[in-house]
Amino acid sequence: MSPETGRRRRAPAAVLSPPEATPPPAVASPTERERSKPAAKRPFLLDFFPLETADQTRLHRFYERLREGRLSTTRCSRDDLLHWPPRTACPKCHTEILDWVDLPERGRVYAFSAVLAGAPYGMEDEVPFAVGLVDLDGVPLRLFGRIEGRPWTALRIGEPVRVETYDIGDGRMFYRFRVAD
Ligand SMILES: [Zn+2]
Repeated sequence: MSPETGRRRRAPAAVLSPPEATPPPAVASPTERERSKPAAKRPFLLDFFPLETADQTRLHRFYERLREGRLSTTRCSRDDLLHWPPRTACPKCHTEILDWVDLPERGRVYAFSAVLAGAPYGMEDEVPFAVGLVDLDGVPLRLFGRIEGRPWTALRIGEPVRVETYDIGDGRMFYRFRVAD
């Protein structure tokens, strides 16, 4: 006997109700479903941005500081080690006693590319846009992020940029770079 046959035999026939006893479920049309969904709410699995509140992440201070216009990270004073991304524990000595420090607001484009298709959910209308690696001035950190303020075709390696914090549209904060004036 195949496993399929065995499963079919074990299925109790009593659970099958006559068709008239089960009215078809009321299914909203796609249009109605769209209308009932808050505009900025993204499906969790397709959400490009992290959850930010204190009950969602131990790194909530990073986002709270973004709200104050400050891009910051953690630093281990024991190792004199600046982390990126920010950590809850030092990757070298494992202490959880870390300082929060502001990062420089200026940097230069180390490398960049452009998103021309296949943008993350919610960003489909924004293509093409530039993304790249930026070396921040005065610290040994190279950050990835979006680069705004110039078409990607006119962007250059070494371009000076500044850090910008912004609300992504549902109350959460993130950072990006903008070509400096
Ligand atoms: Zn450490």
